[in-house]
Amino acid sequence: MTEVKNLEENMRLLIAIQDCDTHIMDIQAKKEAGPQRMERLKQDLEALERTLDEGQQRFKACEQESRATEQEVEDLENRLKKAEVKLSSINSNKEYRAALKELDELKRQKALLEDRLIEYMEEMEALRGECEMGEQRVREGTRQFEEDRDGVLKEQAALEEALGTFQTQREQFTKDIDGTLLSRYDSLRGKKGGVAVTPVIKGVCQACHLGIPPQKFNELIRGDQLMRCPNCYRIIYWGEDRRFQENRATPEPGRPLGQDEGATRGRVEDDKSGMSEQDR
Ligand SMILES: [Zn+2]
Repeated sequence: MTEVKNLEENMRLLIAIQDCDTHIMDIQAKKEAGPQRMERLKQDLEALERTLDEGQQRFKACEQESRATEQEVEDLENRLKKAEVKLSSINSNKEYRAALKELDELKRQKALLEDRLIEYMEEMEALRGECEMGEQRVREGTRQFEEDRDGVLKEQAALEEALGTFQTQREQFTKDIDGTLLSRYDSLRGKKGGVAVTPVIKGVCQACHLGIPPQKFNELIRGDQLMRCPNCYRIIYWGEDRRFQENRATPEPGRPLGQDEGATRGRVEDDKSGMSEQDR
């Protein structure tokens, strides 16, 4: 009787420790996800900034080329004026024809450059629009990034707090549990993806989802020995046993546990004297 009682208490503590560990694992996964999400958001913002920068570079290059072309047009105009002056002072037909030809050639070049200038202007207009849109996207992206970053930071702080709570609670539970059982649990947890203790409900192990033989299930319900799932080897308990449904360490992350914890510990101690064989 005393031994069974002792096993029951240890199981209850073990279940509570498993609950804490499950929460701790979950919190740690969320804590790692936060910075990864931030990194993705940062990369998204950087991509927007790069696109904007490229647009601005293209605009600058286009503007420079446009200015150079304007200069070329101006030079051509000067040459045209000179050619026209020259034309008016020519006497021979041959020279006149040659000068006319030169004048035509200069006009042709000027027309080409003027066409190119129009193209540059159109391109600059398009690029200006692109840059304005890019600036707007960067502004919006920056605002979103800052908002998300604040969210992640807040979440991280809440997770940190919850982690501390569960760690403290776990420590409390481990003080009372049998040391050998705790070592077995810890070693098993390392090998079993963080879950070393699992309920069996309606004859089915809730970790591996395989049924356990009826005779074993009856032994489990009797609850007078520590048992393992014959399939996954995790430590099992009868999940429908109301004694194991109470006193669970399942607080919401971020919520202080001080009072709950005291109540839980109190109930564990009360049960030392309150339970009889008929209650099973
Ligand atoms: Zn199993």
